[in-house]
Amino acid sequence: MRIAVLSDIHSNLPALDAILTALAPYDALWQLGDVVGYGPQPNEVVERLQAEGATGVRGNHDAAALGELSTDAFNDEARAAVEWTARVLDAAAGRWLAALPSRHEEAGFTLVHGSPRDPTWEYVYSASIARDNLPLFETDHCLVGHTHVPLVFRDGGGRMDGWEPAAGETLVLDDRRTIVNPGSVGQPRDGDPRACGMTIDTETRTLEWVRVAYPIEPVQRLMGAARLPSRLIARLEYGL
Ligand code: ZN
Repeated sequence: MRIAVLSDIHSNLPALDAILTALAPYDALWQLGDVVGYGPQPNEVVERLQAEGATGVRGNHDAAALGELSTDAFNDEARAAVEWTARVLDAAAGRWLAALPSRHEEAGFTLVHGSPRDPTWEYVYSASIARDNLPLFETDHCLVGHTHVPLVFRDGGGRMDGWEPAAGETLVLDDRRTIVNPGSVGQPRDGDPRACGMTIDTETRTLEWVRVAYPIEPVQRLMGAARLPSRLIARLEYGL
């Protein structure tokens, strides 16, 4: 089975369309939260994921847009985008987001947005944080999002190796436990503005990271029309 794994789509439909085309064909689609927030097309993104039969988990932006998480910990721009999202989110999209759990297990993987320890807020961006989280999930491997950077942490028995996989990089899973981040579809923050995603081939146990360019300017135009914060509009171009 070939699984497409996405995270942090952030209401960016052209980026989602582009990465799904680049990852096809796939038998299943998993997403790791922050479906909405920041970007201009939350309803359209949810509709596309629904049509694809995506399974997955909720992120902090999804919970905040549903009114189920306080925005006190958000910066001003993120909060403005969450409040805009909450206003435009239609009932069907809201129901779909509200049904997402914060943690999900499938095919030997644990799926969370932040970390097993704190699916809402914790960023797994260092080997020490990854090591602390290893005892907190039962499966061999864990998939996380939230950092908007593709990452691998692999338990080497006493030491934890960590690296940022490049576009096109593959990783064959073995009996070493891993925490893996597919990168962000709709708002990458590793200096590469292209949409990022990953596939899992469950027969060969191979992961592959994929980057694809998408039309950024139409997204920026929609964000401008929605009066979303200008820094959020600009950062899409830089991937930071
Ligand atoms: Zn995010």
